[in-house]
Amino acid sequence: MTQPDSKLLAHIRIVLTRTSHPGNIGAAARAMKTMGLSDLVLVEPAIFPNSQADAMASGATDLLAQARVCATLAEALADTTLALGVSARRRDIVSEVLTPPEAAGRLLTEAQAGRVALVFGNETSGLSNEELSLCQGLVTIAANPDYSSLNLAAAVQVLSYEIRQAWLGHAAWPQPEMDAAVGEEVERFYGHLETALADLEFLNPGSPGKLMLKLRRLFARTRLAKEEVNILRGILTAAQEAKQSANRARNRDAE
Ligand code: SAH
Repeated sequence: MTQPDSKLLAHIRIVLTRTSHPGNIGAAARAMKTMGLSDLVLVEPAIFPNSQADAMASGATDLLAQARVCATLAEALADTTLALGVSARRRDIVSEVLTPPEAAGRLLTEAQAGRVALVFGNETSGLSNEELSLCQGLVTIAANPDYSSLNLAAAVQVLSYEIRQAWLGHAAWPQPEMDAAVGEEVERFYGHLETALADLEFLNPGSPGKLMLKLRRLFARTRLAKEEVNILRGILTAAQEAKQSANRARNRDAE
């Protein structure tokens, strides 16, 4: 068997959101490095950099030194073609639920063509609805139903281990079929969709309800290609223009 491609591991990002305890950031870095992962991104960490993080990282302080700190999860995922939220519950926001080995396979397949991410939540509150709505799938670690919440760094270790085992076991992954849109392009599409739905008076910006969350869940079930995002945005622009000209005609009639 040929040697697995180390570029695939380099393309897999671990994102920790709103981490409270710096020791967990260090322990997560150590968990990643033992399994060959290196891309660590922190979204709004409560305390970082910090000596407790360094102490828990042990020989993985290089990952902490390289870690990127982002203000928002959208920023952390801007260049990724796939983001999987790691969470013990919450099927309501994301419909696809994967086991850790299934997630590892998906991530490695996509990592051939671009960057991908696993998103972990805060120690107390987990991932928020808004954070989950930026993910296209959910990974759950099947645990004791009476006590299912792992320590954050332990959860990072489980997923990193599964990725490494999958990577060692398969030298060749199927190529992804199409040119997937990255997080930034998909977020711009959602922004356009929301504006267009307001222009078309389908969505009331004053009381939007859960419409956008539901539409995000719908699109997250599919894998949007760059070209498809462009087509959808073209349709939105055409609908907005049609509405504008209908409004103009109505105003003329009213004069
Ligand atoms: N009380 C929080 C748990 C937070 S544990 C909650 O109920 O969501 C910190 C993070 O570790 C979680 O956000 C998740 O990313 C990960 N995690 C812990 N246990 C997990 C499990 N059984 N399955 C998947 N992720 C888990």
